[in-house]
Amino acid sequence: MSVEEKLQMGPRTGVTYPLQVIYCGNCSMPIEYCEYYPEYDKCKQWLERNLPDEFEKVKIGDEAGEGGGAEEEKKRQKRGGKGMIKTKKKEDGPKQVCVSRAPRGKKKSVTVVTGLSGFDIDLKVAAKFFGTRFACGSSVTGEDEIVIQGDVKDDLFDVIPEKWPEIDEDLIEDLGDQKR
Ligand SMILES: [Zn+2]
Repeated sequence: MSVEEKLQMGPRTGVTYPLQVIYCGNCSMPIEYCEYYPEYDKCKQWLERNLPDEFEKVKIGDEAGEGGGAEEEKKRQKRGGKGMIKTKKKEDGPKQVCVSRAPRGKKKSVTVVTGLSGFDIDLKVAAKFFGTRFACGSSVTGEDEIVIQGDVKDDLFDVIPEKWPEIDEDLIEDLGDQKR
């Protein structure tokens, strides 16, 4: 490549434009982030089914990571320091369940629980359990969100570890009250 070519702005040969971000159907993150998601295996299964081309790339990346040859080392360096930062970030934030209170109406509050799916918990089952346990409405309201119709936030610190022993009380983050 000549100096002029290197300095050239705009599209380059060999790169497909526009650079599009492909989102994973399993974890809903851009697929380059999948490997930092706890259910990476499921992401890969999704990729294999839906985006075989991308799956091949991921597979190659994985194999390079496991090997140790000079060639593979070079590849990894090429992939850049950006990836390292991402990895670090993820390590700092272990999976956890978050609970918060949100106003609903003048005097009522609801409790919002997020993060359960990170523990492989079926959200529908969990919502039903909360509904029975607190004798109130409880439903899945998002990809990883359950809303319980009532202010039961404080109780959840006992109820969740009791129901799912893998979730220690310390893994539950109290986000406090959501603003309107
Ligand atoms: Zn994914």
